[in-house]
Amino acid sequence: MSELPYSYEAQASQALFDRAAAVTPGGVNSPVRAFQAVGGTPRFMVSGTGPYLTDADGRSYVDLVCSWGPMILGHAHPEVIAAVQEAVARGTSFGTPGEGEVALAEEMVARIEPLEQVRLVSSGTEATMSAIRLARGFTRRAKVVKFAGCYHGHVDSLLASAGSGLATFALPDTPGVTGAQAGDTIVLPYNDLDAVRAAFAAHPGEIACVITEASPGNMGVVPPLPGFNQGLKDACAANGALYISDEVMTGFRTSREGWYGVDGVRPDLMTFGKVMGGGFPAAAFGGRADVMGHLAPAGPVYQAGTLSGNPVATAAGLAQLRLLDDAAYEKVNAVSARIRSLVTEALTKEGVAHTLQNASNMFSVFFTDRPVRDYDDARTQESFRYTAFFHSLLADGVYLPPSAFESWFVSTAHDDRAVQRIADALPAAARAAAEATA
Ligand SMILES: *Cc1c(COP(=O)(O)O)cnc(C)c1O
Repeated sequence: MSELPYSYEAQASQALFDRAAAVTPGGVNSPVRAFQAVGGTPRFMVSGTGPYLTDADGRSYVDLVCSWGPMILGHAHPEVIAAVQEAVARGTSFGTPGEGEVALAEEMVARIEPLEQVRLVSSGTEATMSAIRLARGFTRRAKVVKFAGCYHGHVDSLLASAGSGLATFALPDTPGVTGAQAGDTIVLPYNDLDAVRAAFAAHPGEIACVITEASPGNMGVVPPLPGFNQGLKDACAANGALYISDEVMTGFRTSREGWYGVDGVRPDLMTFGKVMGGGFPAAAFGGRADVMGHLAPAGPVYQAGTLSGNPVATAAGLAQLRLLDDAAYEKVNAVSARIRSLVTEALTKEGVAHTLQNASNMFSVFFTDRPVRDYDDARTQESFRYTAFFHSLLADGVYLPPSAFESWFVSTAHDDRAVQRIADALPAAARAAAEATA
């Protein structure tokens, strides 16, 4: 990749990437990090503080990825770090129950009214995989409805039209998922309730659940149209299926109560990750107590995890959640709104067709002049303009997601100085987007 632009200022990152490629497929442990969609040298980060990341070449960036959402208080928040240090000094894993996991579960249940019980796991993928198994075990039905462009982790049965990394790499499907694994998955266009009703009519008594991103961020930010989530809930209720709201991205991010706090639609099951782990691998699924009661050891549906409820991860997550009061969300929402208006202003000035969409403080720019309501709309954007926009900002010290199909994330630590650096970098980036050719 060294022939691609801008790597001259990333020599140390390039050297690390070369080393990584020798021992790790593609040089990364999660595909989007490899910069394949935008080209160039992925930046290897060595430290983070507040709204900034510093790479191996010593360059600093205003971070608009925030570890894909978790770092809602900024990097290395002193109170989170203190909680982690306190926990880690007492030992890192016991393989027994512990108070930290009880306290984290209590905090989550106290915040989100429909969340009666939770089970902690270690990744969002595990959370959605387990929620689907539980829904199938509870309903004794096989089929799962998901939406094109929604990503629920790399769960075999959900890796069909899964947006994000898959949108980035234009893989329509992945080898390794068998027909049997994907055969019970029904993929429908997002924001299309008629398609949902038709699926229930075509498969009476067969659909275990509908799983949806509470407000999708994995095809870029594409919020549900008014009434869509309620329509899903109603269709599920009318047909004996469970409504699973995947809040791995939106949970504790879009409000104190996540997307539930925004639209108030009661899911039967919910999944969480990202923010609730405070930068550690902690995730969860939960919901109705009568459904959760089917989970082992209370019930027959098996689910387990050696590091589930890990004491260091739960300490980080709990410290972060306790700091996330109403004032914190007001702050994140306000800085998100400021950055959104700066982006629109810069692109408009250069005459670049774009649509900026947000779901609370999550947002993304689509290089198209039309509203984006589903995955097909998202794919019509001129993503070559994003590539130029991305590299111009990167060169000027602003770190965007390395793909046009991702949400941007901000934190309470994004202060005036960080916003000013973005404002200073945007005019050149908008010009680069305007001048870009396919
Ligand atoms: C990130 C994400 C996942 C997967 O979480 P991992 O921790 O990466 O396994 C699942 N669902 C949604 C909506 C996500 O954004």
